[in-house]
Amino acid sequence: MKWLEEFEWLAYSEEKSGSFCKYCVIFAHSKCANVGKGDHQVTGALVTQAFSNLKKAKEMFRKHETCRYHEKSVLIAENTKSIVTKKLRVLLIVNAQRRLDIEKNRKILIPIIQTIRFCGRQQITERGHRDGGRICLEEPEKNDGNFRSLL
Ligand SMILES: [Zn+2]
Repeated sequence: MKWLEEFEWLAYSEEKSGSFCKYCVIFAHSKCANVGKGDHQVTGALVTQAFSNLKKAKEMFRKHETCRYHEKSVLIAENTKSIVTKKLRVLLIVNAQRRLDIEKNRKILIPIIQTIRFCGRQQITERGHRDGGRICLEEPEKNDGNFRSLL
């Protein structure tokens, strides 16, 4: 557990009975990390194979941290986390606004439904001679129907 706290990138696989670098496993072979290009560094233990030599663990972990492909993998992982976090934040804001719109529209529907139910219960017609346009609070010049008057 101490090693997992000390080496933030370290992960343990029960299935493989050994340790891996979680960033290098995912990103070391991506084009961005350019493993081996110019550096001639070959990935092995901690990346493609589990590392299980406990006697040399800390020495190996410190050596791994200095590898160029590890540094690049960590950088790619941090950038990816940052992008995902920003996208999630935007989605939360959009969802919050959408939820407000849904609540507002539901509140708008309540008096309309109540009016329709009232007209149905009282068996009165809803339409008048002129029932188009915006509904305003002032008295209309001509009768615009029961439904609009009730609203
Ligand atoms: Zn690594």
